[in-house]
Amino acid sequence: MEIRKIDQLSFEPFIREEEIQLAIERLAKEIAPAWKDKNPLVLVVLQGAFVFAADLLRQIPFSVDIEFIRVKSYEGTESSGEVRSVMGLELPIIGRNVLIVEDIVDTGKTAVYLRDLLIEMGANHISMATFLYKPAANQTDFEPEFVGLKIDPTFVVGYGLDYEGKGRHWPGLWRLISEK
Ligand code: 5GP
Repeated sequence: MEIRKIDQLSFEPFIREEEIQLAIERLAKEIAPAWKDKNPLVLVVLQGAFVFAADLLRQIPFSVDIEFIRVKSYEGTESSGEVRSVMGLELPIIGRNVLIVEDIVDTGKTAVYLRDLLIEMGANHISMATFLYKPAANQTDFEPEFVGLKIDPTFVVGYGLDYEGKGRHWPGLWRLISEK
């Protein structure tokens, strides 16, 4: 089994690219009928969701507006839960049906922050498609509507997700090997 390293941390293969693509195909089939008449504004949360968004959105056959936003909320391998700022929200939100595209819902705090912000900005309907969801780590009442894969609360990289800026381009998902 191939082990990859970032700094002093080791990662093992976790979910293969083929399995991810199957999950995304299924997700696109759930999203498309539900959103085709909603003139969606898709907000892709950078940087982690860029690979997922590229694969998912190419399977959506109708026209959508797409914007890329950044929410800074995470340091190291544990979610700080401190959301600091949102950048890149430029199109008017009032009355829009907004589909947030996220890499992962962990504590759920980023999702709640974004949901509340978009409500405040006058969005009509808000929903989230997340590549990964760690239900056991969720500390909020937020439940993502569209989930690619549910995982246990371990730290993962690859397929857009990083550790200290590294590993985003790795194909498939890799799981942190915990030091014993
Ligand atoms: P939450 O606010 O739900 O705790 O965390 C959301 C953000 O934490 C995600 O957008 C992601 O950037 C980061 N995050 C949470 N879990 C992981 C993980 O397992 N791996 C990586 N690379 N980032 C994670």
